[in-house]
Amino acid sequence: MAKKSKRENVWLECKDCGQRNYRTNISVVDGTPKLELKKYCKFERKHTTHKLKRK
Ligand SMILES: [Zn+2]
Repeated sequence: MAKKSKRENVWLECKDCGQRNYRTNISVVDGTPKLELKKYCKFERKHTTHKLKRK
């Protein structure tokens, strides 16, 4: 069994206020996926666009 999947812990950062609201992990096979998600920002109390932030 080959251990091929490479996973990395990332943050989901709010594009509006820059707060890192969520932590998740993604598979990084060929570079970072450009992922943007609509998530609830508890600091602004609304849904905003969050983007992946690698460490
Ligand atoms: Zn925010």
